[in-house]
Amino acid sequence: MDWLLYALVAIFWPSPAPPAGPGQSVTIPIDPLGSEAGGPLPPVTAARGENPPLVVIDAGHGGQDPGAESPFTERREKDITLAIALAMRDALAASGRVRVALTRDDDHYLVLEDRYRIARRLGADLFISIHADAAPENDQAHGATIYTLSEVASDREAALLAQRQNASNQIAGARLSNDPNVNLILIDLAQRESMNVSADFARLLYREAAPVFPFRPDWHRFAAFIVLKAPDIPSILFESGYLTNETDVTYINSPQGRREIAEGMRRAIEAHFARRSLRTSGGA
Ligand SMILES: [Zn+2]
Repeated sequence: MDWLLYALVAIFWPSPAPPAGPGQSVTIPIDPLGSEAGGPLPPVTAARGENPPLVVIDAGHGGQDPGAESPFTERREKDITLAIALAMRDALAASGRVRVALTRDDDHYLVLEDRYRIARRLGADLFISIHADAAPENDQAHGATIYTLSEVASDREAALLAQRQNASNQIAGARLSNDPNVNLILIDLAQRESMNVSADFARLLYREAAPVFPFRPDWHRFAAFIVLKAPDIPSILFESGYLTNETDVTYINSPQGRREIAEGMRRAIEAHFARRSLRTSGGA
């Protein structure tokens, strides 16, 4: 996250508002479903087994949107997020337990809504957006953070989506009704389930990754980032570390750092789906 993401968010805001601080949440109006958007879809890697789950990994920024800058490297946030996303895809593809798609695999620009729209069109089971933090006024700030959607934001989201009432859309397999009140309940149920699963995944990721690389003390935060807005796909935004902290940026910009982040992600993603398939089959 950085000033540019805030600037993009601000475009959708009716009035200026500061970024969310610890324990706070923010609300933004957005285009809620958007699954009807067209365009070519990215390739999906193969995996073993019957109907393997699909993870969509989103490298933050790209093209004309470079993201945050670092005083310690020429590389911009968009380059660092892409390198981490590619390392995650390679680690997951080599393991072969889940399918993977990237919203971008090169340096091109995508609007925020298109990132989760790609995930919805592919029928993704998990969405992970990769970013790197910056705190130019505080070079001591360091460590990774996991963001999930705030509840306040999701209520607003559900209301907007219900208002729109597009009967051709489906939420979590339930066809939307012509009755906006029924839609509101269906969408709200799907969103709440997604938020619970997102928080479960955030805890798993922390468990798998915290022994390997540093997290902030308040490692799980809530915000209404546009990329987290698919109501029926569990979604997290991962801030991999601070570009304004020399130790952090040296690590996340190194082959070893990328490899370790990718491995921590892979273990968490595979554990997440193993756990969910056990639940679905009644095993645990
Ligand atoms: Zn960012």
